[in-house]
Amino acid sequence: MNTSTRSKPAIYWLRKDLRIADNRALSAASENGRAVVPVYIREDDGNGPLGGAQEWWLEQSLKQLMARFEKLGSRIILKSGDPLQILKTIAEETGAEAVFWNRRYDPKGIETDKKVKAALRDEGFKVESFAGQILHEPSHFKTKTGGPYKVYTPFWKAFSAEAHVPAPLDPPEKLNSPSRQPESETLEDFRLYTGKPDWAAGFRELWTPGENGAQERLQHFIDEIANRYAGERDHPSVDATSLMSPFLALGEISPATIWHAVSEAKNIDDTNRKKFLQELVWRDFSYHLLFHAPDLATKNWNGRFDDFEWSTDEDAYRAWTKGQTGYPIVDAGMRQLWRDGWMHNRVRMIAASFLIKDLMIDWRRGEEWFRDTLVDADPASNAASWQWVAGCGADAAPFFRIFNPMLQGSKFDPDGDYVRRYIPELARLPAKHIHAPFEAPHAVLKEAGVELGKTYPRPLVDHKQARNRALQAFEAIKG
Ligand code: FAD
Repeated sequence: MNTSTRSKPAIYWLRKDLRIADNRALSAASENGRAVVPVYIREDDGNGPLGGAQEWWLEQSLKQLMARFEKLGSRIILKSGDPLQILKTIAEETGAEAVFWNRRYDPKGIETDKKVKAALRDEGFKVESFAGQILHEPSHFKTKTGGPYKVYTPFWKAFSAEAHVPAPLDPPEKLNSPSRQPESETLEDFRLYTGKPDWAAGFRELWTPGENGAQERLQHFIDEIANRYAGERDHPSVDATSLMSPFLALGEISPATIWHAVSEAKNIDDTNRKKFLQELVWRDFSYHLLFHAPDLATKNWNGRFDDFEWSTDEDAYRAWTKGQTGYPIVDAGMRQLWRDGWMHNRVRMIAASFLIKDLMIDWRRGEEWFRDTLVDADPASNAASWQWVAGCGADAAPFFRIFNPMLQGSKFDPDGDYVRRYIPELARLPAKHIHAPFEAPHAVLKEAGVELGKTYPRPLVDHKQARNRALQAFEAIKG
């Protein structure tokens, strides 16, 4: 870089990388003391768009990050509208000649970034984008025939054979600001969370959005949880997973930071370490799939499912979203999602299977609901996981593998603690009946204060009949 470019300020465009540590675009923009103009743009239709739960998170996260930038001597400029126009105006106002960002990999984001990059370069700006949202570029791994991987195990093998994840960068200690600062909107102008009604009250109890919250939770996971991860990660009543997903979704921590911290922690044994890293790499695999199938959230990977006869029962769909299906493990999951903005992975699989197979409702309706209500909503992981459960995805569970909600409940929540936490009206039922209250003797229900159809719903469908109906519908498209 020549000295004249170095002396001019650089714009750093923030997106899903709301952190200071291991931030390649920020480090490059501020190299050698160059003045930086950090800007967050609420794009007209970009960034996902984010669902309601994630907008709550974004507001908290930006608040934290703005304070951190100020401590370093800088100020995040907030703007809404078209990114190209905004970046050009800011460049004019500050004299910036370069624009830096960390790459994003959702189809809409890729499309916007390509256009913005080409247009800015045409006008003589230096534009550079950096990796860091995932462990490897989504196009990096190729099968022997040069195509994308469709199955996870060979993807993981290729990944672990190479396993070159660059070491995380230290955060800059100081940032310089340009002499002329552009106008900024306020966070209130973004209207991210109105709090009327205050549906995110439960989120505040559980989460600390932002870079510090991410680092603290990661350390807690490494110190207290990681060594029981493989054995306990499927049990939803236990705090046995990392809870890194919402922090990763908005980039408050980089996956490389997690990868290195877990890989290098001396207290974690090999079994637990490997299991965790394999899960982390599922996220990369999902991005690999999304990169090669940009319509992953809307189009069956396996086109045979295009003819599947989905049900349009809106009452059943609503009951599922509200945790009122009459199957406690499903309802507990859906209520956890509403209250905490997050659901345990095992229960995500059970609740998704129930929507798709027991209720025969299109997996895309579920994907949409999760996208709106999860604080960790991720365009790749959400779409890939829904297709996985539906059986129409790349490396999918076969359609005929239909979860039995009673058996899943008894196996993974044997004492019913998880159900009791989210469905207080069933709290007094003994463990033996908690996953199938509709099969409990009348006297047991009475003793526990449960009146089916009144205090807790009767099952929406009979699981056995629903299973047969789903299998018949599947037979019809199989040939
Ligand atoms: P841990 O078990 O601690 O795993 C560590 C990290 O690995 C996670 O933070 C996540 O980044 C990654 N990971 C783990 N499992 C998966 C997986 N199956 N697929 C992709 N990445 C994974 N995850 C999301 O991040 N966003 C979503 O929108 C999302 N939607 C899902 C929808 C369905 C129907 C299902 C079945 C799963 C979905 N997942 C999604 C995957 C998984 O449930 C969550 O990543 C996990 O529960 C997050 O909790 P954790 O951070 O404690 O996970």
